[in-house]
Amino acid sequence: MSLDSIDRVAVLGAGNMGHGITEVTAMAGYDVTMRDIKDEFVDDGYESIAWSLEKLEEKELIDESADDVLSRIDTTTDLETAVSDADLVIEAAPENLDLKHDIFTDLEEFCDEDTLLATNTSSLPISDIAEVVDTSERVLGLHFFNPPVKMDLVEVIYGNDTSDEAAEAGYEWVESIAKTPIYVRKDVRGFVVNTIVGPFGGEPAFMVSEGEADIRQADATMSHERGYPMGPFELADLTGIDVGYHVRKEGDSPIPPITEEKVEAEELGQKTGKGFYDYEDGDGADYQPDDAGGFDWLRVEARMINRAAFLVGEDVAKPEEVDTGVQLGLGFPEGICRRADKIGLDEVLEKLETLHEETGSERFEPHPYLEELVEDGKTGEDAGEGFYEYDNEDGGFDSYHNINVELADGVLAVELDRPSRMNALSEDLLSEIDDLFSSVDTDEVRCATIEGAGDRAFSAGADVSGFSSANPTDLMDVSQAFETVNEFPRPVLAKIDGFCLGGGLELALACDLRVATDRSEFGAPEINLGLIPGAGGTQRLTRILGETRAKELVFRGNHIDADRAEEWGLINRAVDREAFDDTVEEFVSDLAGGPPIALKIAKQVMNEGQDASIDAALAMESQGFGLLTSTEDVLEGTMAFAEDREPEFEGK
Ligand code: NAD
Repeated sequence: MSLDSIDRVAVLGAGNMGHGITEVTAMAGYDVTMRDIKDEFVDDGYESIAWSLEKLEEKELIDESADDVLSRIDTTTDLETAVSDADLVIEAAPENLDLKHDIFTDLEEFCDEDTLLATNTSSLPISDIAEVVDTSERVLGLHFFNPPVKMDLVEVIYGNDTSDEAAEAGYEWVESIAKTPIYVRKDVRGFVVNTIVGPFGGEPAFMVSEGEADIRQADATMSHERGYPMGPFELADLTGIDVGYHVRKEGDSPIPPITEEKVEAEELGQKTGKGFYDYEDGDGADYQPDDAGGFDWLRVEARMINRAAFLVGEDVAKPEEVDTGVQLGLGFPEGICRRADKIGLDEVLEKLETLHEETGSERFEPHPYLEELVEDGKTGEDAGEGFYEYDNEDGGFDSYHNINVELADGVLAVELDRPSRMNALSEDLLSEIDDLFSSVDTDEVRCATIEGAGDRAFSAGADVSGFSSANPTDLMDVSQAFETVNEFPRPVLAKIDGFCLGGGLELALACDLRVATDRSEFGAPEINLGLIPGAGGTQRLTRILGETRAKELVFRGNHIDADRAEEWGLINRAVDREAFDDTVEEFVSDLAGGPPIALKIAKQVMNEGQDASIDAALAMESQGFGLLTSTEDVLEGTMAFAEDREPEFEGK
């Protein structure tokens, strides 16, 4: 059982998850058969796939036509036809243990003995499903998130009998379809992601039930102050209050009284028109940034961190895996282990102990692993170790968590690494950019590139949720990162593929050159929020585009496409995605092979000259020119020219 042997995949179920899993599998080049029990269900699933692929094709998010992808998908209602040739089967039938038992019993009969058997269950133990299979070492969980096309995460779950070989084959297969796998090494209820999210919704509901918090205040604090994509009550209304209720009931977890009341009153959220908010007669989740404050968020986060301690302490997952899980699976602004290390594990433990003492509730009983970390002095970032180890001394690239940095052959490659937030610029991310560009050894760097992780955006803007709580004077400071990039003594190139908006556009403008794919979109939408671009946007846009076009972008706040951006001179090139890497490479090779001192001085006099009178600017230029005439690079450049060869500049 290895990845090499997986060519053909069967997906059982054409519903919400089954059709999405089929789609992403075919997109990755596999042949896949989708099975459901009735033709109409199969047809509905297939139509949803066709519709979605057309959208992806329109937006140029796939490299081939929708029809080409569809040609790899077969459908059937016959189980044996679906699975007899399959190397991997993924079951995505309704969440019912008896039904899954029937399916897995049949699978053992119809499949080859080395076919990998996976279930997409959300809440049933993998081991319970596998108990009807004699060869249960090949049964594992592959837990996709909804919708599979958009959600990058897949949990790869071990049942009690799952072999390493099977789990590894599943893990590698997930990577091969361009998703991000995380191992869940023990078959715990909720796996990783749902284990952490439990208290996110549950604890605020207890607090409201006990009269200790207010719904809008809780939602506003968690989203606007703590940066979560939405408040816990808004989230419950979206997913259905009954869903969380049943999960708790099945897991024998205590149910917050307010949740019980809502379920009894059949006020289940958006789907019934009313839940914690009123969607029919009211304005829905209408909390405002002003409602934030006074909510005891630490009580909620301490419980999530305690769950993370359970997962790490019981060897279910590593801190990196927990963090990847919550960021990609739940859109959390940062990993919960990372956040815990920032808060301080001693503070978290104290919070839990106090609440445990006051309430006597098991919910707050600290996990021994958390106690152990604190006893060992591993209280987090300040102490140099917590869930993670911190190299507080050398400030190496590994100490960055919001950007990925590589330095090879003189090219400093920076990737904004918040793909689940479309690489929105948080305060932490910007301070890492500032730190990197002000501390990296420029002797080692000939040019730098900045790009966005994931396939949707360079950066879709500033992380508004993170900033709204900040003190206005702190906000002024973040623009420092843009200046640092702009003044970096080496050329900086922005590689733009996807959205480049707001703060993201300002970061691209702070770079010297910009190359973009033709599907990219540019805009300064701040005006729509009642703001103006605040990190150099108004000024750099005017200098680069001229007043007429800059004012159009800033005043209207809408997007322009890459062709227009190229025509306007906002970017150097707009190229199709296939030509993108080569075009970037051509730029980078010229910049990295160019004479470093001359490039530095060219950048400096061109940047500074814009703010000077023409006389002063010309004086700067001739001073720079004079300086360069005495360099070894000039000798090398002129000699190479005379000898008709490529120069080799050394920056001397
Ligand atoms: P769904 O009800 O949308 O789809 C299930 C499909 O399976 C239906 O079309 C049904 O006709 C079909 N089916 C019934 N018996 C079958 C059989 N014997 N063989 C093949 N197909 C059969 O459900 P869903 O939301 O897609 O959930 C499927 C599984 O995925 C469940 O185990 C669920 O827990 C899990 N899951 C759901 C989500 C989610 O957000 N919906 C997320 C992750 C995992």
